[in-house]
Amino acid sequence: MTDEELAELEQNPPAWLTQSRANRTANARPVWMQLTCIVCGFTEAARPKKWWPEFTYLSCDFHDYDEVPAPRDGLRRQEVDGIGSRFVGILDS
Ligand SMILES: [Zn+2]
Repeated sequence: MTDEELAELEQNPPAWLTQSRANRTANARPVWMQLTCIVCGFTEAARPKKWWPEFTYLSCDFHDYDEVPAPRDGLRRQEVDGIGSRFVGILDS
């Protein structure tokens, strides 16, 4: 394909290209996410939920609080239960 042809395609995208680009945008959120425990390294692939924030750490729900690195100075820690099959999401903000 020449540059001219490519430019022409960009100017007048065929329907299939417009459609496939629209799909890609709609699916921008990753379908699978790798969850990894900060303490023991247990890992699991999960489908991210819309309400999941960007977690600072993830840990298995049975680890003790003091096994997880402490929040940096001035940050407030929130924990979110029920991530994947056994994770707690930790959010320092
Ligand atoms: Zn763990």
